[in-house]
Amino acid sequence: MESSIRDKYEVVIGLEVHAQLKTKTKIFAPDGNEFGQEPNSLTSAITLGMPGVLPVLNKEAVNMGILTGLALNCTIPPRCKFDRKQYFYPDLPKGYQISQYDEPICVGGYLDINGKRIGITRAHLEEDAGKLVHAGADGIAGSSYSLVDLNRAGTPLLEIVSEPDMRSAEEARAYMEELRNIVRYIGVCDGNLEEGSMRCDANISVMPKGSKVFGTRAEIKNVNSFSALQRAIEYEIERQIEIVEDGGEVVQETRLWDDNSRETRSMRGKEDAHDYRYFPEPDLMPLEISREWVEEIRAKMPELPAQKRARYQGLGLSEYDASVIVEQMGLALFFDEVLKLGTNPKAAVNFIMGEIAAYLKEEKLEIGETKLTPENLSELIAMIEKNTISNNIGKQIIIDMMKDGTPAKEIVEKRGLSQISDEGAIKAACQKAVDAHPKEVEAYKGGKVQLLGFFVGQVMKETKGRANPKAVNELLKEILG
Ligand code: ADP
Ligand code: MG
Repeated sequence: MESSIRDKYEVVIGLEVHAQLKTKTKIFAPDGNEFGQEPNSLTSAITLGMPGVLPVLNKEAVNMGILTGLALNCTIPPRCKFDRKQYFYPDLPKGYQISQYDEPICVGGYLDINGKRIGITRAHLEEDAGKLVHAGADGIAGSSYSLVDLNRAGTPLLEIVSEPDMRSAEEARAYMEELRNIVRYIGVCDGNLEEGSMRCDANISVMPKGSKVFGTRAEIKNVNSFSALQRAIEYEIERQIEIVEDGGEVVQETRLWDDNSRETRSMRGKEDAHDYRYFPEPDLMPLEISREWVEEIRAKMPELPAQKRARYQGLGLSEYDASVIVEQMGLALFFDEVLKLGTNPKAAVNFIMGEIAAYLKEEKLEIGETKLTPENLSELIAMIEKNTISNNIGKQIIIDMMKDGTPAKEIVEKRGLSQISDEGAIKAACQKAVDAHPKEVEAYKGGKVQLLGFFVGQVMKETKGRANPKAVNELLKEILG
């Protein structure tokens, strides 16, 4: 689309994010809240919606809801309640979902994303539905039927609804990424978009620039990654602008994103709230949350991603490095352990974001799956700082330390890798390199001073990387005159 057309419009985006809470059991039933179990094995009478059974609210889910709300700067009202939302789905045995309508557990929060405040309207607790396994999927290839697995039914969800405050796909993505970071750091959700433990519905509309009246929104479902979210929003913006440019009207509806064909398709007209015939859930008492309870949870709040980034920058990391490491929670928590040992932060981050991250990516491992301990990394860095080994040797042996857990000292002793700082020995190696390359010496003396690097390389080769680089540089300059 021509940018001149696109520039006439302002984009408005609000996100509804569902986070699956990592409780031990379901929100209203004692069944395990586990992924990957035998289909329909986590299905008590309550989950199946049998007549006469009663839901019992899981306190752990409420605690996680409060913790998330506080992390998102929300108010936790002294009272909230549960409501029935009626609709029919084959994977919703009761024919209604227990949710929260007009009195949610969290209200009026915000998140600051790259200096811009995005309002959070509310966050409410609800139960997830089961899962339909459609024809052709999951080993029932060619079948013409769908199977129902109710293991997921009753999993606690926290739905986090933003204000329509975002103005571009990039902003929406950044908000979603930060939300994911937060739920992971506070330990309430895996935040895995690919596996669906965190899901996002994107509401998008367009309006002429300068207008105060929002356009009609479409709601996009089925985005399973951050990049898909961004692509889906981009696509939807252009689709809506084209409709408006052609004199048409955007209809309020739910659309599905297809990441293969890279387009959204209409799924169904969007219900209004009255279509769900919400009413207070008669089987559950309204929930009163005392201020003591809220403070008890607040006291358990771990350091949040934004605070972590600020702290790392205070240690001298660049804004970019700080955000990259925070994005990878396993590495950030490891980094914190290394810091606690009094290690130089810059040296530690260079190893973690360099050799360590590259190895983990290549081997598809998490740091916890390797044998590297914070103590061992800290010791390695101390050895480099004391000039016992060179930085290069450190980079070589870190991989072995990850593979078999051997402390750096042991590897260095066994393989004789300690740095040569003895001037006589280094001088001899320098002299040898100079003697072996008369042509280069001539060129160097003729003004090609960048050849110094060549000689340093020769000396390092000769000493298997063990010579102290600073001494090598100085001695070479001396010899070459
Ligand atoms: P529903 O459940 O019907 O989708 P909600 O109030 O839960 O309604 O969610 C509406 C979401 O849509 C919110 O995130 C809100 O910010 C967003 N939204 C509302 N109006 C618009 C609009 N005109 N354009 C874009 N997003 C909108
Ligand atoms: Mg919605």
